[in-house]
Amino acid sequence: MARINTNYDKLAAGYLFPEIARRTNAFLEKNSGAQVLRLGIGDTTEPIVPAVLDGLHAGVDALGKTESYSGYGPSEGINSLREGLASLYAERGLTLDPSEFFVSDGAKSDSANIQGIFSDDCVVAVQDPAYPVYVDSNVISGRTGKAYDNGYEGLVYMPCTEENGFFPDIPDRKVDLIYICSPNNPTGAVATKEQLKTFVDYANQNKAIIFYDSAYASFITDPELPRSIYEVDGAENCAIEFNSFSKTAGFTGVRLAWTIVPKACVTEDSEPGKLHALWTRRQNTFFNGAANIVQAGGVAALSPEGRKQTDEQVSFYLENARIINEGLKSLDITTYGGGNAPYVWLKTPGELSSWDFFDKLLNECHVVGTPGSGFGPAGEGFFRLSAFGHRENVEKAVFSIQESLKI
Ligand SMILES: *Cc1c(COP(=O)(O)O)cnc(C)c1O
Repeated sequence: MARINTNYDKLAAGYLFPEIARRTNAFLEKNSGAQVLRLGIGDTTEPIVPAVLDGLHAGVDALGKTESYSGYGPSEGINSLREGLASLYAERGLTLDPSEFFVSDGAKSDSANIQGIFSDDCVVAVQDPAYPVYVDSNVISGRTGKAYDNGYEGLVYMPCTEENGFFPDIPDRKVDLIYICSPNNPTGAVATKEQLKTFVDYANQNKAIIFYDSAYASFITDPELPRSIYEVDGAENCAIEFNSFSKTAGFTGVRLAWTIVPKACVTEDSEPGKLHALWTRRQNTFFNGAANIVQAGGVAALSPEGRKQTDEQVSFYLENARIINEGLKSLDITTYGGGNAPYVWLKTPGELSSWDFFDKLLNECHVVGTPGSGFGPAGEGFFRLSAFGHRENVEKAVFSIQESLKI
């Protein structure tokens, strides 16, 4: 008799983005002809840059010739890409071996799958608010109890608030697996080296593991801020890092990412190399590698010309963030983020709830954003605006907010 995984029933109903779509569609039905400006979902909008397109084309062409055709590749990724990634980190003074890089088709799936190589009874800590996959993947695997009003039983929430600059204090109890995202989705906050050091020290003392999501690292413009957790001493012993070409190179639909599992990374019950071996085994068993065409695009994105062009695109999105920030500040709305991240995190005016502000912004300004409460209890009273978008749309949305928001 087959039975289902009932942990799925614990997932809080009404996932954030379907609910946004439902309310937006209801608005459009009532207001036919209205143009809705979307600063909601974090998805890239600008075309892939020429140097990277050339790489993708070359990847396609290689498949059309006997001499260069390739079928299954190594599930950890082609060597030239792993080497290119290791060189990227070497520029920041980091010594990571290419074999410590696991190329994949997404940081989302890797950040969801990584917990599978750890024991079921590990206690999980998440930043609150957080990218939803960290929580949901652990609910599904049974590491939490039921959902209650303010989150899941058994999950340790680390509030990120105005008071702590949106970076949490270390947990006040012993936890085993810790998710940190920097630059943060949704708050746009970037952890300093000193802040990360508190967690690295905690993890090494408690033999905990940090899952560090740095999908937005390329948006960091401040040279003092770390782009990788391995810039902090001791992190190679306790941290696994995720990154992706999605936001940097416009690969959200193309799919290419990487995960770093240093051989030095250890748990209480394992020797150096064991976690690396487990992730190798996991990927070889469940995954047959990222598309070869796409990996050719990734190699091109790491070339000097690819870097220059993708950096320009990242700057373009950061300029959008600046425009959004300026517009909101002119209305005396308190905002955070946006300087080193493609997200602006605003405090809802008049202490409105996140969803009430969503409805207000949609009805009065025809702008769609993302309610902060959808990312966790501490997101209540905040709201995320995404800087991904065509300039014209971003300007229209900001103008509409300035003209029509009644505060
Ligand atoms: C967009 C995003 C990613 C990227 O995920 P991919 O699966 O590589 O597209 C990872 N983490 C966060 C927090 C993100 O917002």
